[in-house]
Amino acid sequence: MNLNVIEEAKDLLPGGVNSPVRAFKAVEGNPISLVKGKGCRVWDAEGKEYIDFLASWGPLILGHSHPRVVGRVKEEAEKGLTYGLTNPNEVILARLVVDTVPSVEKVRFVSSGTEATMSAIRLARGYTGRRYIVKFEGCYHGHYDSLLVSAGSGVATFGIPGTPGIPEEIAKLTIVLPYNDIEAVKETFRRYGEDIACVIVEPVAGNMGVVVPEVEFLRFLRDITKSYGSLLIFDEVITGFRLSLGGAQEMFGIEPDITCLGKILGGGLPVGAYGGRNDIMSHVAPEGPVYQAGTLSGNPLGMVAGIETISVLREENPYEELDRKMSVLSESISEILGEKGIVHTINRIGSMMTVFFTEKDVRNFADAKSSDTKLFGRFFRKLLEKGVLIPPAQFEAWFVGTAHSTEDINEALERIRDATKGL
Ligand code: PMP
Repeated sequence: MNLNVIEEAKDLLPGGVNSPVRAFKAVEGNPISLVKGKGCRVWDAEGKEYIDFLASWGPLILGHSHPRVVGRVKEEAEKGLTYGLTNPNEVILARLVVDTVPSVEKVRFVSSGTEATMSAIRLARGYTGRRYIVKFEGCYHGHYDSLLVSAGSGVATFGIPGTPGIPEEIAKLTIVLPYNDIEAVKETFRRYGEDIACVIVEPVAGNMGVVVPEVEFLRFLRDITKSYGSLLIFDEVITGFRLSLGGAQEMFGIEPDITCLGKILGGGLPVGAYGGRNDIMSHVAPEGPVYQAGTLSGNPLGMVAGIETISVLREENPYEELDRKMSVLSESISEILGEKGIVHTINRIGSMMTVFFTEKDVRNFADAKSSDTKLFGRFFRKLLEKGVLIPPAQFEAWFVGTAHSTEDINEALERIRDATKGL
């Protein structure tokens, strides 16, 4: 049954998927199709069960089918699916965002993380009247043309397109620098500072695997953007409501000008947002001239899933507990790999982590790329066979959520121990 779905999908969808990583190419595996999720477990079409550390790439901090989230969505769906005009739930979720995310005074809801970052960049350009944007190598901000640009080697290299379909003229407006590299940023601002609209950064990187920033690096970004009149954008699509209720900015005590949100914000439904200071957000249409719109923006089902998810997080404040659980998982995996003599580095912060197969400290994308991705592929496939689902690619984050109990973590560790036997 599972096989048929996957085979038929290949005829009908490019690569058999609607998002490339789902094809398991990076781990040379056979993709699975999932049909059910409950708590921290998911089931494939053949009925095989997995303990899930993918969490749909981050949104499911409360686990699958949380009764409060599902209940509220069902209730709202009975009333109507979309109106295309303002619904009270948009105001309730906006209030929650403004109350919890330190730097956000006003927010615009969109339907994905990509839309959030794309719109934030447009706003930064519109607000400053400048062209260039700075991003960091290995940070992913969705598939918007200006952000899907990889670095050439060296410092302050103007971007080359990361995929066919992006004209060089557009890619050239994106400057790509190494993460955690203050000198590279300093040099770039010295040369182009007056033309830089914004710096966009994952305040904790999750898309080169987890890479924790040096706090001085984030502080430096805050200071240099301010002194040149550029905007600082924190892409908290992963870290928002995950590292703390107020995200990485609350954890590090550093406030960006614009924040991008997604994933947990929509509790498993397609919701993104960008928000920030009043004087900046007032440039967004119809209050200001920077145009951005969406038929399904602020969709009532997405709004109530977000409201319920953030309300549960607020009531339960699970962050210390999540940190403890992930620290047990990461330290135990390190022990298991250590016993086998497998060289590895685990980067962890709060409830997100990545296992790299390298002896290096991983503090930027170049370090991350030193990981043995073939070995990661074998590790992934063994884990999957034993019923543990982790992201099907090296450069991604694993997540734990409130639904992973101590027993679940222990059971996962047993399966992981078993899986590494033949590694
Ligand atoms: N920013 C970050 C930090 C992300 O991790 C992602 C997606 N993984 C995005 C933006 C894009 O979000 P979406 O896939 O919802 O468009």
